[in-house]
Amino acid sequence: MDCIFCKIVKKEIPAEIIYEDDKVIAFKDINPAAPIHILFIPKEHIDSVNFLDEVHIDLIGELFLKIKEVAKKLNIANKGYRIVNNCGELGGQTVNHLHLHLLGERQMQWPPG
Ligand code: AMP
Ligand code: ZN
Repeated sequence: MDCIFCKIVKKEIPAEIIYEDDKVIAFKDINPAAPIHILFIPKEHIDSVNFLDEVHIDLIGELFLKIKEVAKKLNIANKGYRIVNNCGELGGQTVNHLHLHLLGERQMQWPPG
């Protein structure tokens, strides 16, 4: 399968890795939309939220806990930040490997574009 995020997991292409364990990896977005823009992905390939099922419940919890820990470490926990998931074409998903964006260090707007 030709998935760019799976290649980052396998270290076949470089990334600025911020956090890694056996299930999750977090790395800087190559085209940052905020001063802090980190992608959190499961190492397991899952296309999108549409492909989640019960076996992934713990994994999704892990992703959110790791975002919380990294946000604290980067000193943005108290200031606030945004977590984004884009799903499918109208959702704006461009990489079909499920990921959560952590965006911080600027004022976010609502509604999103
Ligand atoms: P999405 O549009 O929600 O699918 O998000 C995909 C994100 O992946 C975009 O913000 C891209 O800038 C980012 N991206 C694509 N290729 C890479 C890469 N090789 N390393 C880091 N981030 C990437
Ligand atoms: Zn993948």
